[in-house]
Amino acid sequence: MTSFEGFRCADCGATATGEGATTCPDCNGALDATYDLDELVGGPPADRPGDLLPVAPVGMGEGETPLVEAPRLAEELDVGTLRLKDEGHNPTGSVLDRGMSLVAAAADDADADTLALATTGDAGQSAAAYAARAGLLSRVFVPSRANFINKAMINVHGGDMRVVEGRYGDARETYETEREELPAADAETWFPAGTLESPYRHEGFKPVYYETAAALGTAPDAVVVPVAHGGVVAAIWKAARELERLGVVDARPRVYAAQPDGCAPIVEAVEGGHDPEPWEVPDSTTRTPSTARRRSPSTRVWRSASPAASPSPPPGGSATTANSPPTTPSSSSTPAPATGTPTSSGAG
Ligand SMILES: [Zn+2]
Repeated sequence: MTSFEGFRCADCGATATGEGATTCPDCNGALDATYDLDELVGGPPADRPGDLLPVAPVGMGEGETPLVEAPRLAEELDVGTLRLKDEGHNPTGSVLDRGMSLVAAAADDADADTLALATTGDAGQSAAAYAARAGLLSRVFVPSRANFINKAMINVHGGDMRVVEGRYGDARETYETEREELPAADAETWFPAGTLESPYRHEGFKPVYYETAAALGTAPDAVVVPVAHGGVVAAIWKAARELERLGVVDARPRVYAAQPDGCAPIVEAVEGGHDPEPWEVPDSTTRTPSTARRRSPSTRVWRSASPAASPSPPPGGSATTANSPPTTPSSSSTPAPATGTPTSSGAG
């Protein structure tokens, strides 16, 4: 049983219902799913994540990933206990599979026949796999800079790939142009699978937190999330509020958004108190903690920043950049688990 009610625009508050919702019908802003939480109070949604999802996922073994203790990293960062939510165990190797499992289901419900998106790579291989699983096609626009494995796996999963010379912005531009030029009769056949192009992809990330809280039996003190567009960190914050509201756990964690120094628009926005702005020359290649230590004794993983501001980083958390001097998260006590590894901005 789901307590799903409908969708609300994060920008203007307009509501939307119906299968296959994409963006706000009034302002084209991002939609967010709403639920009747009163129906679930006292219930165990950590065991039944479907109660807090807008549609049943196209299941392919995603989720229930290991929560691995990392004692040496905990020591390096001077926190009591640190755990990594290893999303590499998902079917195509990233957290994006969780969101795509809902996107594919919504596209099928809406009678679309193609998942379409521009992507730096991971989301493309996930979309190609989940489209195939749902009996749909996929049309994936990737920049020429995307890595070879992503491109190969899009092909392996049967995706129709278009490689666009340049960076992500160039792929995105080509995707939008082709979409606008679709004949009217075909316009509904493409279902957008990109970040914030529908409410399903970010909603699908919430079980990362449900599983973490269930494994710990309580809310973690802090969650550090590698961030690109911000979909995963927003979903984790939403899930944390839901579980606290339902009384499943009695607290919310501090939530940190981590971005690489070479592409940190959300961190800059939080620190500067303004909306995120385009990053001139993005470079999201970061070193792992162990290689960073080998290469430069003065390099560390992340630093805390000012308290987060809306819209993306949640109140009570912070935005951080990778490969900067570390600061122990404020008022930290054990345990201090983290989800994901601070090695890439490709998490979503
Ligand atoms: Zn709106």
